[in-house]
Parts: sequence; C-alpha cells; structure tokens
Amino acid sequence: MLVLAAAAVAASTSVGAQAPATLGFAKDARIAAALADISPARLRASDSALVSFGTRHTMSDTLSPTRGIGAARRWIHAQLLQYSKDCGDCLRIEYDTGSAVVGRSPERPQVRMVNVVAWLPGRDTSRVVVIGGHYDSCICSTNSMDFTSDAPGADDDGSGTVAVMELARVMGKRFPQGFDASIAFILYTGEELGLLGSTQFAERLKREGKRVTAAFTDDIIGNVVADDGRTDSTSVRVFAVDSLAIGGGELARYVWAVGALYQPSFEVLPVLRLDRLGRGGDHRPFVERGIPGLRFSERLENYKRQHLPTDSLADVNFPYVAKVARLNLATVASLAAAPARPEQTAYARDRNSGGQSFTIRWSPVANAAGYELLVRRTTAPTYTRIVNAGNVTEFLLDEQLDDVWVGVRAVGADGHRSLTTVVGAPGGARLPAPPRR
Ligand SMILES: [Zn+2]
Repeated sequence: MLVLAAAAVAASTSVGAQAPATLGFAKDARIAAALADISPARLRASDSALVSFGTRHTMSDTLSPTRGIGAARRWIHAQLLQYSKDCGDCLRIEYDTGSAVVGRSPERPQVRMVNVVAWLPGRDTSRVVVIGGHYDSCICSTNSMDFTSDAPGADDDGSGTVAVMELARVMGKRFPQGFDASIAFILYTGEELGLLGSTQFAERLKREGKRVTAAFTDDIIGNVVADDGRTDSTSVRVFAVDSLAIGGGELARYVWAVGALYQPSFEVLPVLRLDRLGRGGDHRPFVERGIPGLRFSERLENYKRQHLPTDSLADVNFPYVAKVARLNLATVASLAAAPARPEQTAYARDRNSGGQSFTIRWSPVANAAGYELLVRRTTAPTYTRIVNAGNVTEFLLDEQLDDVWVGVRAVGADGHRSLTTVVGAPGGARLPAPPRR
C-alpha cells in the first residue's frame, strides 16, 4: 500500500476511483533535501546523553549537574541554544515554566513544571504548529513515585525527545527564515505524572490567543522488535481521534499522504483513535481543547520494557527513529508552509440540479491562492476526488453531499496544501448557509 510514485495527482473524475495516495500534494525540493540531514548517529548520541542523567523523573533532583531532571533539561536547553547559534539565532529557546499538583501521588505535592521550547518563528507568529516529545521518564511499572532509582527511558521517551531536538536543528539550519506558521519544538516534562507539561503548554497557547494548526507528539518511536521476535522497521502508527469536527482523521490522512510522497518505502498506518487502549500522550490536552492532535508511535511496542529499568539504549533502533523524524519533518514543514485551513463551512442543496449538486461555502483564509474540494465516500479510508475550485469561497459541486464527505482546503501560492475542514461536520463551526438557487 501507498508506495506510489511521488507526484502530484490530477483530479480523478469518479468518487469511487482508486485513492490518490498523496492527496494531490506536490513535492517541495527544499523539504525533500532537508530529510537527508536527519542523522541516526546524532540521535543515538543525544539519547545516550539523556540516559546518562540516571533518572528524568519529574520529581527527581533538579540541582545536581549530572543526575536528575534538572541536569537533563539544562543539557537540552544548551543543545538547542547551540543549534540556534548554528543557524544565526534563528530559534528562540526558552523554559516554559509553571507548577501543577501531582494528583497521582497520595501527598498531592505541588511540583514545578519546566518544558523546554525552541520556537522557529514564522511570518504569522499567532499561528503555531506544535511538535513535542516528553523528556521525563519513570519506572512507573514498579513505582510511579520512585524518583531516585535509575529510569533510563531510552525509548519512552528518549526516542521522541531526541527526534524533536534533531528536527529543531535541521529545520533551523535549512529554513532559518521559518514558514508561514511558527513552529514550537517542545520537550515536555510531567507526561508520566498525567500529561502535566503538555497541559500547561496547551493552556498557555490558548491563553495567549494562538491558533494551533496541529499538535504532534513523538512518543515511543524506537523499538522495532516485538517480544516474540517479529520485527518491523518499515512502518509507523499515527494515532488521531476519529472526530470530523476536530479533524483528527483529516490530520492522520495528511500525515499518510505526506509520508507516501516523501518517504514511500516507510508505511504510515493511520489508527483513528486518540491513543492506544488505556494509554495517553501529549497530543491529548490539545485534542481536549478542540485542536487536531496526533501521536507517532512505533509499530511494535514491548510493554515488558516500558516504564522499567530495562528501557535501555540497546533496544532503540536509531535508523528507525530517523525515519520517523523524517516523516515528522516533511509533515511539519508542509503544514507550516501551507496557509491555515478554512475555519467555517456551510452548504445548500442546489434546486437547479434537482438536488443532485450542492453549493459549498467556506470562510476565506489569509494568503490562500486558491481552494480545493476533496471528496470521499463515508466508508472510504481517504479522499478519492480532488476538485480545484479556484480562488473563490463558494462553489457549486456536482456531488450528492448526502452520500459523501467533502473536505475543503486552502492552497498557498507555492502549492502547499492546508489541512482539510470537513464540510458540515457535526459539531463543526458553521457559516450562514449559501442562498438557495
Ligand atoms: Zn511516553
């Protein structure tokens, strides 16, 4: 599946036709070239440094220069500062601080929460694409409040942490001027204590009035061998909530298409649920605030090592982490380079056609050079028809809207496509309906 040649796909004529795997995306040569800079050796060296701090439990030592979460975050901060220096101060590095009650502890202590953020400012600093991983670790499978014993967390989530750091380095170097949207590369604390760091950051962005296009998390992205010996280093799962109004499935299809275009030998497996059963991740606080969120996770997990002293560097496959990071890069760059998606939609049945066509209307998007309508059957995994509507905000579409889902997206002057907004999604934001005709 999804190993088609990388090329823009022309509009198909029938909604039942074969899915265009790349959703009509056109490859950007600058993004394709940047993928080669993701370095498995650097990913390994960075994860090795993280593991060397012994434990990164959120409540561990913050004063020691060599052990505990304080030493770990100062090291991350210093690395990011160096990456910024290397790109002419293109990144803005900061500690995102706050405090939270650890409700999972019987003592319910108030604990300081310190995320580390590298911002790559875009043309629009009020619009943000978030990509994060959590740098805290634990041995929660034996004792979630043990903050002194070793908790290497090489895969959970050293793997995601170093991938996000590597993205900041490569994207800063390759795109020092940034994109249309700003990008927040963030290393969260407090994930293992209940998504505390990501909740803090999601709340902050909301408070500051930022419009978040999407929030991704890389969490557990380095294991390729299952406990029974099966291996898989050629696919990755992407988890996103199956909500038309929020657009989780739309975001999963976006990643799927970007992957098919830029890295066709690495299969993206969309899973339309928020997360694995009984588990959570740092995309969730965003989804709970109505923002499309998505989690990248390895295909084959080994729960015998997670949250234990055995989550060691030896079991992390860094060429695999690099493939996930390349998918991350292509996705984040594509979304940040594209305009925002239309915020609101509306529709009206067309009388002239006896009700067989629909007038579709959407709210205009800044810097859009045009719009496209994408069509799929309600049971289809992805869109099968792409209609170029031109630079308008109302279009008579020759589709029976009763029978299909239609997504509308903005196209930038350089051909980058936004996320799709599902027309008339239950619970979605509505415009006044177009006049009947
Ligand atoms: Zn994790």
